[in-house]
Amino acid sequence: LVSFILYQSDLADNIRTLIYIFGDMLNSVGAAGKVFEYLDREPQVSTKGTLQPETLTGHVHFNNLSFSYPTRQERKVLQGLSLELRPGQLTALVGPSGGGKSTCVSLLERFYQPQQGEILLDGQPLQSYQHHYLHRKVAMVGQEPVLFSGSIKDNIAYGLADCSLERVQEAARRANAHSFISQLEKGYDTDVGERGGQLSGGEKQRIAIARALIREPQVLILNEVTSALDTESEHMVQEALASCPSQTLLVIAHKLRTIERADQIILIDQGTVQEQGTHQELMDRKGSYYKLRERLFTEDDMSH
Ligand code: ATP
Repeated sequence: LVSFILYQSDLADNIRTLIYIFGDMLNSVGAAGKVFEYLDREPQVSTKGTLQPETLTGHVHFNNLSFSYPTRQERKVLQGLSLELRPGQLTALVGPSGGGKSTCVSLLERFYQPQQGEILLDGQPLQSYQHHYLHRKVAMVGQEPVLFSGSIKDNIAYGLADCSLERVQEAARRANAHSFISQLEKGYDTDVGERGGQLSGGEKQRIAIARALIREPQVLILNEVTSALDTESEHMVQEALASCPSQTLLVIAHKLRTIERADQIILIDQGTVQEQGTHQELMDRKGSYYKLRERLFTEDDMSH
């Protein structure tokens, strides 16, 4: 009965969207207090937009954004931040902890409205798009994706009615998950177990990427996606990213090694863009990016 209601009503549609949006985040936090912190991130914005264009290129502009969280209005978390994400390119956001990277993603997902400036998607303000349309076109894969007890197929097709196995396999191929799934005795019918306990971190991540890709988003955000993975899995995720040639890709990276091939790297610190360019350009400049790398790699060495 519950699933019937969930699939029939508009209210349920909203709930499903929220579960989908917050699922990854909820799984990435352990303590109950943290869960409420994340639940506080429910959209606090109007959902009256109507635009649903058939084609979307995924060109994103952050124009002079200033933002304070509603609970701490005295503190400006973003201060006149501008940046551009281009279709067919991989952009990496890097920077010290607390600099504002995740806040940029929250604004792109419309959990909040900036107090000043605006975000444009294909030249139109984000709020002019229809709410569900926007959440289909702008998808995020979190650091520790949620997998549900159920088959791999159901996990990839999650929330999509009447999704064929061929469509699931196509998404898995693009996410570089098809070959490991095919090697499992029960293939796509394999039960992933409670919270995906039977799969490695990299395998779970690739299933989550397939789940995002099957919805054909035009903007794909990977939040710290590689930070928990081993080197081989990192490589696989990079390949999965390479299979999105026309999408706009945004990666929030902590392991700076993984984003050296990004088309542009944007370093955010104290709520503003401090530096941007390719890896080589930023290394040659010997500025903040260069120093951040030195610091992180020293910390990395010391932890081994
Ligand atoms: P990290 O690399 O540690 O994830 P970040 O660069 O993503 O950091 P943000 O999470 O965007 O940084 O945080 C920027 C600032 O906003 C920090 O000072 C943080 O404490 C504050 N902040 C983040 N989320 C909230 C919130 N929900 N309410 C109030 N302040 C917040």
